[in-house]
Amino acid sequence: MIEPDLSENSIRILEARYLKKDPDGNLIETPKDMFLRVANNIAEANAIYDEPVDKTAEEFYEMMAKLEFLPNSPTLMNADNDLQQLSACFVLPVEDSMDGIFDAIKNSALIHKSGGGTGFSFSRIRPKNDIVKTTGGVASGPISFMRIFDEATNTVKQGGKRRGANMGVMRVDHPDIRDFITSKEDEDQLNNFNISVAITEDFMEAYQNNEKYELINPRTGKITGLEDASEIFNLIVEMAHKNGEPGIIFLDKINEENPTPEIGEIESTNPCGEQPLLPFEACNLGSINLSKMTEGPIGEAEINYDKLAETVKKAVHFLDNVIDMSEFPLDKITEMVQGNRKIGLGVMGYSDMLLKLGLAYNSQEAVETAENIMGFINKKAREASHKLAKRRGPFPNFEKSIYEKEYRNATTTTIAPTGSISIIAGTSSGIEPLFALAYERHVIDETLVELHPIFAQIAEERGIMNDELKEKLASQSSIQKIDEIPDDLKEIFVTSHDITPEWHIKTQAAFQKYVDNAVSKTINFKNNASKNDVKEAYELAYKLDCKGITIYRDGSRSGQVLTTKSSD
Ligand code: ADP
Repeated sequence: MIEPDLSENSIRILEARYLKKDPDGNLIETPKDMFLRVANNIAEANAIYDEPVDKTAEEFYEMMAKLEFLPNSPTLMNADNDLQQLSACFVLPVEDSMDGIFDAIKNSALIHKSGGGTGFSFSRIRPKNDIVKTTGGVASGPISFMRIFDEATNTVKQGGKRRGANMGVMRVDHPDIRDFITSKEDEDQLNNFNISVAITEDFMEAYQNNEKYELINPRTGKITGLEDASEIFNLIVEMAHKNGEPGIIFLDKINEENPTPEIGEIESTNPCGEQPLLPFEACNLGSINLSKMTEGPIGEAEINYDKLAETVKKAVHFLDNVIDMSEFPLDKITEMVQGNRKIGLGVMGYSDMLLKLGLAYNSQEAVETAENIMGFINKKAREASHKLAKRRGPFPNFEKSIYEKEYRNATTTTIAPTGSISIIAGTSSGIEPLFALAYERHVIDETLVELHPIFAQIAEERGIMNDELKEKLASQSSIQKIDEIPDDLKEIFVTSHDITPEWHIKTQAAFQKYVDNAVSKTINFKNNASKNDVKEAYELAYKLDCKGITIYRDGSRSGQVLTTKSSD
């Protein structure tokens, strides 16, 4: 049995948050034990279908121990543990009533306790100053209720393992939309929320034609007034330019691809935006490490499609089993999850893979590679889901779905941020470019310093590595102005700030083209980017059929997750 080969950072994060501990806080398992625990637990689902368990457990163990595939954190933390709640993504409905609102708060607390993140649409809550019949008073409005969700999240804190994360969505035609857009202008507000404005096609039409659009009270369905679409668009841009919030999601586009419109309408995504879900639906994610899917020397490697196909097949099997092994805090969630059986297979290590292939992130060749590779993964994932459907039956809501061909899962692919699991795998996160070649990463209370391993290896081989260079690398986020680095390396080792927002968006769109769900991606801007740059990025994301966009202007928020010692 192979031993996992883990970096120091990986071991540190596993020990802090993933490995089992006794009541006194002493570790009682090794990383190898953890992978075995997860593999054995997830393979057990085979027994439901009279399929052999042991060989599958070995396969699952091997692909995790080799860091070729990892499931989302809750699966690693909770499989065969007290909770057995294995999904990262949830969406809960928020009804326009006291009961409804506080039910949602309670349910989200239960989900946070188990390591899941929750998304909500606040669009159904009546606007502030609207009437409240039972008390004869006036309504306080969705934003004031969001603050209670935020406070509840603060209090739960998930036993120190995960802080708790929420997505708050509001339709652009809600009468309180201005308050919503500016609700995070003050950085101390709604810290446990990412917020996104749900943009409709009607709104985009009004924006493009420089017209007004209608605001609608969700309680009565009546028009309450008109807003200037450009003004609202500009307000979103202004706030996002200021500190990255709100993001936007293209809600009608998302619903166009809703695989089960008869079961319900999609109104929100999970916290990081990659997983649109129906109310009470959950989804488990898993990511293939693309940097392990190449063969050949660094700079001239090629993609090993046979290995990738094999890994996709096993990963789909794994994620489908996760559904059967999961226990959820609410029966309604269990019912929704088992009805649609959504899974979200994605990738991490995309940028590291490009370095191995010798391709610059900001090149047409890279974007084409992204399309090819994700097209291949999506096709193989669908094939695997189809084969599972033949063996295990299609997902129960299949008859009410948009599909003609039988699948085991209503969706198969999602690009997750892989914030933690990419550290465990020792690779670049999701489909993001490198942030720097040496950097500090803040995780919970710890600061980790990392030198990029592929660059380190090449620099050694080329004989340019020395202490002076290391110091320079640690002090700036780009190598473009370091004289001793040869031009051919400068071309390939581009970091997020060398890459224009346009290439970031083209990359997101390339993946989105072949992803059933959505793509987690931050579109990075330089500190001196203008509001107009942000606006153009939004328009491009819409044009290229992205399902949403999240931007971040360097230095615009005080608590940045990733920082170089000094940003150039
Ligand atoms: P990981 O690498 O830990 O598996 P990701 O960074 O890929 O997780 O995030 C995937 C999803 O997991 C997020 O969109 C969100 O739904 C959930 N999630 C991530 N971090 C948290 C957190 N601190 N609390 C709750 N949910 C989280």
